[in-house]
Amino acid sequence: MINTLYWITHDLRLDDNPALVRAALSNRLLCVFCVDPRWFSAHRYHVSSMGQHRWQFLQQSLNSLNAQLTGLKQHVLIEFGYPEQQLASLITRHKITRLVCSRQFGVDEKAVLANLAKRLPDLRIEEVDTYTLFELNDLPIRLPDTRKSFTAFRQRAQDHPLPLPLTAPLSLPASPVDARSSVWPTHMPEWAPVAANDAGLFGGGETAAHIHLQQYLASEWPAQYKTLRNALDGWQHSTKLSPWLNRGCLSVRRTHMAVDAYITQHGSHEETGWIKVELLWREYFQWLALELGTQLFRFKGLAGRAPLTCVHPERYQKWCHGTTPFPLVNACMRQLKETGYLSNRGRQIAASCFVNELGMDWRYGAAWFEHQLIDYDVAVNWGNWQYIAGVGVDPRGGRHFNLDKQTAMYDAEGVYRARWAPGITDTVLDSVDAADWPVG
Ligand SMILES: Cc1cc2nc3c(=O)[nH]c(=O)nc-3n(C[C@H](O)[C@H](O)[C@H](O)COP(=O)(O)OP(=O)(O)OC[C@H]3O[C@@H](n4cnc5c(N)ncnc54)[C@H](O)[C@@H]3O)c2cc1C
Repeated sequence: MINTLYWITHDLRLDDNPALVRAALSNRLLCVFCVDPRWFSAHRYHVSSMGQHRWQFLQQSLNSLNAQLTGLKQHVLIEFGYPEQQLASLITRHKITRLVCSRQFGVDEKAVLANLAKRLPDLRIEEVDTYTLFELNDLPIRLPDTRKSFTAFRQRAQDHPLPLPLTAPLSLPASPVDARSSVWPTHMPEWAPVAANDAGLFGGGETAAHIHLQQYLASEWPAQYKTLRNALDGWQHSTKLSPWLNRGCLSVRRTHMAVDAYITQHGSHEETGWIKVELLWREYFQWLALELGTQLFRFKGLAGRAPLTCVHPERYQKWCHGTTPFPLVNACMRQLKETGYLSNRGRQIAASCFVNELGMDWRYGAAWFEHQLIDYDVAVNWGNWQYIAGVGVDPRGGRHFNLDKQTAMYDAEGVYRARWAPGITDTVLDSVDAADWPVG
């Protein structure tokens, strides 16, 4: 008798979900998602990991997954608490012999698995690659070589064969526990209140993800992707797939295949093909994070070089809330706070300003992005921040974006600034000067 616990993390879908398919090879199947209290409490950078935008998206995605599983006479059991404790107690209570989950790339998530392995030495733990294009045992390069550069990875990866996407299962083994009347426990803990159900930009869940992918690929926008992707604003200027990819509502392999089909049909290889290059960046950062472990979060980063920085609470607050003397940066930071989304160009500009103009410790900026971003991904966020701070994989050693030049290139008419930060007049960076005298 095999009783399996499927620990759902960043794989909230039925389509092309090899972890679910693997978990289903079982007599009984318990599907569990853990909401961890640590996501909601301020950590060492004085802000919590989970902000309102991502929490709302996650709640919607879980509701959607549960509705899909109900059609297969299954359900998601949502547990509030530390995953290592919740999972251990369920495993013991339901005589679980095997745990299946998607491969984890963050150190905290890996620590949960290590903790379980220690507590329950007889438990079989299987990590399955659902989140990436490649599988760990068939990577185009050796893991330590990810430290060299993205280019080396891309050269090998772009022609490397991908596993074929799997279809959604038609049936699943029964659960050892009855479904609750509602997917969410009646009383949500104080630290995880029901997120406001406003329309937002993105709707969570697998159905919403597929509708969005189809609509994007049915439009003329993919044929201009490479040209437009650098724009600061505009829904159609990039794919907007990141929130669904990172919650696992959409398979990255399925996405890659759909982009290939578009290219075959329309022939816009150079423009549309660039989406696949960006997906390789996402891929690269995952395997780099696995290789780096805690080094991903260290001040000196991968380069082992300490940047020159200061800790300046006033500058930090002004940057977070969009009241710096830099109007373009203010617009970016306000868009991020209001929507949970910011274009890649906007992220680069805001991060470069934080590191270069404000001279701040890059990890505080990365933590603020982690809190705000609806598409937060541990490997991609911290990897990109290291890159811009000059302690990452960038062979050029950091990026300093000239704000005047960026404004002239991407917001010459002031449309973006007028939309997101109209009438912001605070032009002083520090209200006290170096000698502690009030400025002005
Ligand atoms: C400082 C900083 C922090 C970032 N933090 C995150 C994050 O937490 N989560 C996240 O998904 N992306 C992050 N990015 C990368 C990028 O900005 C977003 O992936 C992109 O803006 C998402 O919009 P899109 O889906 O329309 O992207 P598209 O331009 O349509 O790209 C398609 C897909 O490729 C991937 N991709 C695109 N750009 C990058 C990139 N620079 N690095 C890695 N993958 C990329 C994403 O999965 C994206 O969905 C960050 C970039 C910077 C500069």
